[in-house]
Amino acid sequence: MTPALRLALIAHDEKKDELVAFASDHVDFLMTCHIVATGTTGQRILVACPNLNLTPLKSGPLGGDQQIGALISEAKIDLLIFFVDPLTPMPHDVDVKALMRLAIVYDIPMALNRATAEIMLENQENG
Ligand code: PGA
Repeated sequence: MTPALRLALIAHDEKKDELVAFASDHVDFLMTCHIVATGTTGQRILVACPNLNLTPLKSGPLGGDQQIGALISEAKIDLLIFFVDPLTPMPHDVDVKALMRLAIVYDIPMALNRATAEIMLENQENG
């Protein structure tokens, strides 16, 4: 049996509805995954999909992005899905950049919008 996919989910505030809809659309596959998420994102997803194996970490601006970066550096994340809002300034912009940098350093597949996330999960669901 292949080990469960370890997935990290994050969405900026303006993108949270979109990520919740994405998670709901893929709930059957996501039920097979071990998921971590930043705090508010995780809570929102759990309301819509309460049966997921999802651990909410700290809220992004309070260190959640950095926690996910640390997990990536420890080889504990297989895929990162991060619905980014490019139109709103963020107080924790440096944390977001640091997380993306680590995903690149460790060559972790990283989807920054829904179109890419759909391709990424399609690939996993069919593989
Ligand atoms: P949140 O964090 O899920 O706690 O809102 C996301 C972020 O803005 O990085």
